[in-house]
This record gives sequence, C-alpha cells and structure tokens, in this order.
Amino acid sequence: MTALLDFARALEFAAHKHIDQRRKGVRAEPYLNHLSEVAFLVAEATEGKDPVAVIAALLHDTLEDTDASYEEIEQHFGAEVASVVAETTDDKRLRKAERKQRQIDTAPTASSRAKLVKLADKVSNLRSMAYSPPADWPLDRKIEYFEWAHAVVAGLRGTDARLESLFDRAYEDGLAELRGETV
Ligand code: ZN
Repeated sequence: MTALLDFARALEFAAHKHIDQRRKGVRAEPYLNHLSEVAFLVAEATEGKDPVAVIAALLHDTLEDTDASYEEIEQHFGAEVASVVAETTDDKRLRKAERKQRQIDTAPTASSRAKLVKLADKVSNLRSMAYSPPADWPLDRKIEYFEWAHAVVAGLRGTDARLESLFDRAYEDGLAELRGETV
C-alpha cells in the first residue's frame, strides 16, 4: 500500500521536475518515457519486490538534470532512495571525459540497487540511440557511445542475468541498426 503511494509520489515528482525536458534523439521523446522505461526494467528485474530500487530508478536523473536537491529527495523519499540516486548521478564539476571515465571506474563498487539502475539506464539509452539517435551525431560518435556503455556495463556484470542479456541485445541490435545506416 504505502509502496504504491511512494511510487505514485515519485512518478509525480519526476514528471514535474523533468516537465520541460525531452530526449536528445530525432523523435524528441518526453524525458519521462526514459524514466518509466528504466523504472519498469528495474521493477521487472526485482519482481516488484524492491520499491526503493524502482523509486530510485524513476528519480535517477533528477539530481543531474533538474533543480532537485539531495536534501529534497531525502526528505520526500528517504535516505535509501536518496543514496541510490546520488550513486547514479555524475559529478557535473568534472569535465565530460572525466565523468565518462568515472562511470567506468565506479561501476564495480556501486551498491546492488545502483548497479541495477545503471544497467537499466544503459539498456534504455542504447535502445534510444538506435531508434531515435541525435540528428547531429555522426556514426562514429554513436558507435563510440555504444562502446563506452559496454565498458561501463562490464563493471556491472553479475547483477542481474536477464537485464544483462537485454543490454547485450540492445548493444548488438543497436550496432547492427547503426551500421545499416551506412549501406
Ligand atoms: Zn537516465
């Protein structure tokens, strides 16, 4: 009961915080589509038994991409959720290349909930990159993105076999789709 209420509150919070954001791809999907996909993948992986992980999945980009603060998330959703969200947030004070390297370096020591959210995030991102890629990205930049995601996920393996195989499928199908563009 209260888990469902918390879930609905987190959905409302995320929808409100990301209200003006869209994905970078040509379809410019509402940002909330990405959050619902990540939350769904985490809910499936945990068979609906870990509300903290699912709520953190819904909120995983609020610290990085909106005006939400750690304190706000902690106050509304508790310390467990806030710490998972913090673990899935890049340090924006670092330069982009450093942030990307940091994701590779910190993946193996992340908490198991953060690993699940990170894995689901990469599945969603590769799917988007394949079917709705950013219009101004050349092919080699997209392929570089796939290889980087693959390197991050290497440090997350052993978390959830099904989610890892969904990632492998998104990686292989996505690369094939991208390479098809050049034919
Ligand atoms: Zn994300």
